[in-house]
Amino acid sequence: MEISVVVPCYNEAPTILEFHKLLTESLKKENLTYELIMVDDGSEDDTMEKLRSITKKDKSVKVISFSRNFGKEAAMLAGLKHCNGKYVAIMDADLQHTPEVLLKMYDKLIKNPEYDVVASYKESRYDEKTIKRTLISLFYRINNFVSDVKLLPGASDFRIFKSTVKDAIVSLPEKTRFLKGIFAWVGFNTIYMPYTPSKREYGSSKWSIFKLIKYSLGGIISFSTKPIKGVFVIGLLCFMICLINFILMGYLSSRTIILLIGIVLLCLGVISLYISRIYSNLLGRPCYIIREKIGFEQKKVK
Ligand code: UDP
Ligand code: MG
Repeated sequence: MEISVVVPCYNEAPTILEFHKLLTESLKKENLTYELIMVDDGSEDDTMEKLRSITKKDKSVKVISFSRNFGKEAAMLAGLKHCNGKYVAIMDADLQHTPEVLLKMYDKLIKNPEYDVVASYKESRYDEKTIKRTLISLFYRINNFVSDVKLLPGASDFRIFKSTVKDAIVSLPEKTRFLKGIFAWVGFNTIYMPYTPSKREYGSSKWSIFKLIKYSLGGIISFSTKPIKGVFVIGLLCFMICLINFILMGYLSSRTIILLIGIVLLCLGVISLYISRIYSNLLGRPCYIIREKIGFEQKKVK
């Protein structure tokens, strides 16, 4: 089989049928053998019923359904673990990632055999609010300053890659996953292709500001120990400033003390991020729990 397309779906009932129709039409037009691995990430709407109806008509579609919402990262991991294609693609179900761009990326990959990944990056984010855009660009700046894995601003999970890359990604044992960082960490030759995501016509983005901050902080600490090492440097600096202050003035002003308390709390916050990461990895709980699988028992589609 040529291509496996992994599609994380959470409350995508309004678009899922249209998405399936558009994608399969495009893949069939190119005479490509394919499978679609659609992962229902614990949707509360009737996404699962729609996926079930798709599998009845289309044997190239396989569905994995989670016991609850585990998040897009878990859905992508489950999809990657279940695919068999020579090439693997990841696409959103909300029609923001178009089959035309997917085919362009596929074309680039097969025409450049020395490359292993074709990754898209968002050229424009016109449908996102200014505060969200500012936070996202701040995340890339901070990440690329402190982290060992550098990310291209606007990097997206919308990619196509060889199965060797997929094998490397699923072999990583970490429980808290940040796929954009994992792609950068595993390496391989990557071509970046700009694209402008289509506007979301139905439903809304699942990313609230709070979720975005949590995800970004998680991403940074996944690949860098600089923030926790920085706590030592900040501590040392504060100590020296206070010592000089005390020697020169004989006391510490209440302003200095309040500032120090703030710095200490901030440092504790950084340490707690790492401790909570150690704790959740120590518990060793799986990234997701599967409630049902459809289409996997049948003979492999050519
Ligand atoms: N998604 C998911 N689980 C979640 C949140 C999102 O599987 O908890 C899926 C969602 O159905 C979509 C993709 O991830 O196919 C991207 O989500 P969204 O459109 O909310 O993100 P954005 O395009 O705003 O980055
Ligand atoms: Mg979207």
